[in-house]
Amino acid sequence: MSPSDAIRNATPSCADDSDPGALAIDEARRRIAALAVPVAGGVRVALRSALGRVLDADVVSPRDVPNHTNSAVDGYALAGSDLPPSGTRELTVAGAALAGTPFAGRWQAGACVRIMTGAAMPAGTDTVVMQEHVDAAGEGRIRIDDRHRPGQNVRQAGEDIAAHSVVLPAGRRLTPADMGVMASLGLGEVTVHRPVRVAFFSTGDELRAVGDPLGPGDVYDSNRYTLFGMLERLGVEVLDLGVVRDSAAELARAFSRTSAMADVVITSGGVSVGEADHIGAVLGDRGRVEFRKLAMKPGRPFTFGRLGDALFFGLPGNPVAVMVTFYLLVQPTLGQLAGAGWQEPLTLRATSTGRIRKRPGRFECARGILDHAAAGGPTVAVTGSQGSGMLTSMSRADCFILLPESQGTVEAGETVTVAPFAAFV
Ligand code: AMP
Ligand code: MG
Repeated sequence: MSPSDAIRNATPSCADDSDPGALAIDEARRRIAALAVPVAGGVRVALRSALGRVLDADVVSPRDVPNHTNSAVDGYALAGSDLPPSGTRELTVAGAALAGTPFAGRWQAGACVRIMTGAAMPAGTDTVVMQEHVDAAGEGRIRIDDRHRPGQNVRQAGEDIAAHSVVLPAGRRLTPADMGVMASLGLGEVTVHRPVRVAFFSTGDELRAVGDPLGPGDVYDSNRYTLFGMLERLGVEVLDLGVVRDSAAELARAFSRTSAMADVVITSGGVSVGEADHIGAVLGDRGRVEFRKLAMKPGRPFTFGRLGDALFFGLPGNPVAVMVTFYLLVQPTLGQLAGAGWQEPLTLRATSTGRIRKRPGRFECARGILDHAAAGGPTVAVTGSQGSGMLTSMSRADCFILLPESQGTVEAGETVTVAPFAAFV
């Protein structure tokens, strides 16, 4: 190492924003997760109101699904022992069974019953031959050949869900499929966790509400809208407290108010080291600061702590940093508080189409556009300029490019990890 290299490595320059006091994102996750205790108190809700809610207790099946052994196809029900081992065989059609209208007669060996999909299997039968595999053999008779096996085309009672089994475990966030499963069990209500209450406000003397005129140096409060949108999607109870000015006294008042009403308090802005950045000091005064800096870009100034019984997230002011830190740290915390556990985003590997400048020593989260249909596997391109104030870089993106601490600059053609924003929503 040359002397100049040694100096460069040892002395952070003004242009170098690496920070030995900043917490690695994995450590931040661990410390936040350790404090996120699921909210107590289950509530009964109607099935239609259960979507996206988190089960407070296991759902145990009161019955078999299907409830009765039934046909999987339209065809003819018969006894497997009546199937011809070779050649063909003719059978008398003794009647019909429809979904909802079981066969009313008595089945006898050597006979079959015309049966529709979902109809209960007549007593004595255990096999269904598809309509398409049957030939007519005169009035009330059919002919079958030897390509069938006993038990085919039948759905057994309880083969989907057995009575008394746990169908959906506590902690599960209910999906449309789960709602259907509960309906198939005849359950009209379910016990879920109460929603997590989240209060949030923006901080900054420069912030103006949408609709108000902008004075010199003012900006519109966009974080209020991105935060609202991200929270709303998670099914939490959202308490929007607007804007608080850059005043320690006003922040202290807002902190007392919000900690009493919410499980989580989220602010944006005022967490850096500028003259108007009071969040850390006020939190230290009124609550407890757990950490104040992340080894992450964007999102380095980030204050996490406790405010009474509430968890406190002081997000940076920069609009992109708000979204990145919310998705990577706040959203999983809200999942854990809701009772669903801490869930990391789904990731996949993709080839970077271009160079992504990056310095080792901190985690970086670039915004990308994924081409998952590209020949030769998924590719990803950054959404142009990545400044943390450029919200369009977020709005154009459909994924994050997650660049770990140890990673240096990514060259075109190298593989990176991406977290897509959405699959089926
Ligand atoms: P701060 O973290 O308070 O120093 O803010 C960093 C940058 O983000 C500044 O340019 C602020 O004007 C901007 N900013 C802070 N809060 C908001 C907000 N709610 N909406 C839009 N921009 C914001
Ligand atoms: Mg500010």
